[in-house]
Amino acid sequence: MGKNGIVVDTNTLTGAKKRQYKRKPKPTFDSQKYRGWIQLFWFGVTIWIGLQFYFFVYYYLAGEKGIYLPRPPGVEGFLPISSLISLRSAIETGQLSWVHPAGLALLVIFIVASFFLRKSFCAFICPVGTVSESLGSVGRMIFKKRLKLPAFLDYPLRSLKYLLLVFFLYAVFYQMSSADIQTFLNSPYNKVADVKMLLFFTRVSEVTFWVLMVLVVLSVIYEGAWCRYLCPYGALLGFIGLFSPAKIMRNSKTCIDCFKCSKVCPSRIKVHKMKAVHSDECFGCMACVDACPVQDTLDMKLPGGRKISPRAYLIAAFMAFLIPILAFKVAGYWNNNITNAEYKEHIENIDSPLYHHNRGQVMTKEKLEQMSRDSD
Ligand code: SF4
Ligand code: SF4
Repeated sequence: MGKNGIVVDTNTLTGAKKRQYKRKPKPTFDSQKYRGWIQLFWFGVTIWIGLQFYFFVYYYLAGEKGIYLPRPPGVEGFLPISSLISLRSAIETGQLSWVHPAGLALLVIFIVASFFLRKSFCAFICPVGTVSESLGSVGRMIFKKRLKLPAFLDYPLRSLKYLLLVFFLYAVFYQMSSADIQTFLNSPYNKVADVKMLLFFTRVSEVTFWVLMVLVVLSVIYEGAWCRYLCPYGALLGFIGLFSPAKIMRNSKTCIDCFKCSKVCPSRIKVHKMKAVHSDECFGCMACVDACPVQDTLDMKLPGGRKISPRAYLIAAFMAFLIPILAFKVAGYWNNNITNAEYKEHIENIDSPLYHHNRGQVMTKEKLEQMSRDSD
């Protein structure tokens, strides 16, 4: 090392790029370690929500026997379609739906956070993303590297999640009439959509089991397979993140082409070739910024060139979810208006055709009565 931290690292530099550069001071803040802690925190919250909801539903399924835990409203975060329908209703009528208020609140929080902090939902809070990253690290241990699909397969496969997103947006914002939206929101099916989702996983069919197994194996072989190719929620947030003012920026004048940024990028973005990362796949994990060895070369920046340090970014990404969630709770738009007596009735009859739907067409009490009259 020379004066002012100027070094020539002959291990990482080749040919024309063998030149002096100013090495960054040793980072005192390991952003990936703290990102892991934040992921663990939200994962713990998700598991706790899942357990509470499990005991709530199974208490009524068992005829009010066993352990009772109150229903956690946060479970509505797993109802993105219902939340999207609530969002359309809110935009159209100016009225908030009270069937799954926490679901709508979370959808709005995730969308707003994606605008300011890219797809940070995927990097910090999504439990599927956390599991997927863990499975990916198992894969890296086995294969000793992050496996890549060839570009001719990767690009078309990445569009699958956008096709799914377009399908859902088309159905919710175009195909469904305003009357359909209100019928769906207040239908028995929507009221118990969270219960149906729980039973989907606890009464897992053989097909579902094998589909889940295939996804697990794919995620080990190919890190983030679900997120990269199939998750329409990630597609929506990634698309919004494209308009974020915060971007990873590379200073090509000081860059030494060491490739470290691209090597650590979980989204396989070729960071070392870009001036600014304009990718829907960038979820603002800050791994590339940490990995870059050269001072003032790779940073998360705002328009005008203002840098956001990894520490500030991580604090923002944690607070951007926690504070609005608490704010919605305090403001009273969190718990729904379904009583426990009503839940008891719904859950005890959950296998009735009243709680079925056919391609978004939900059953109502009136339709069911009409059908039974017609069959008599
Ligand atoms: S470009 Fe950087 S911040 Fe974006 S996903 Fe890749 S490593 Fe993370
Ligand atoms: S931007 Fe990437 S390629 Fe350039 S010096 Fe930093 S880590 Fe190396």
